[in-house]
Amino acid sequence: MKNKQNKFFKFCPVCGGKFITKKQDHLDRLVCSKCDYVFYQNSKPTVSALIVNKKKEILLVKREIQPKFGSWDTPGGFLENGEDPIVGLKREMMEELGIKLKNIKYLGIYLDSYYERYYLSTLNILYEAEIASGKLKPMDDVSELRWFNKKDLPLKKIGFQWAVIALKEYIK
Ligand SMILES: [Zn+2]
Repeated sequence: MKNKQNKFFKFCPVCGGKFITKKQDHLDRLVCSKCDYVFYQNSKPTVSALIVNKKKEILLVKREIQPKFGSWDTPGGFLENGEDPIVGLKREMMEELGIKLKNIKYLGIYLDSYYERYYLSTLNILYEAEIASGKLKPMDDVSELRWFNKKDLPLKKIGFQWAVIALKEYIK
């Protein structure tokens, strides 16, 4: 396994000392040259929803931010530190779409990567859900919303590979 983040982080967040790369657990890790702090890096968790309506259409959003500006995406976002995934999912849906969810069901976890200033790997938790209340409108980070029939999903215009895989699995 390669650690692609090594080149981006240079200084220890504890003491400001310079990082050096050391082999640990068979992996290259960033370790502080002054205080020996080990900078463990993990896949960042995200939460997303496949929101379906009564016609079994799926709601996708158009990204208004980098990376993957202008591509279609499942609504969602990064979890905050210590945030419960369902709480985070509800927060994201309120911020992005102005809606509350009901019938939330866990679908799966998908690994992928994300590049914004530096490479990071993501661990994407996906749920199925329906709209409980609220007036659907594009808000934070989103320029457009559209309901797609399962047969007409814009699979080639979806920004993240994990979402393509998840959508293909879902519509099987
Ligand atoms: Zn240090």
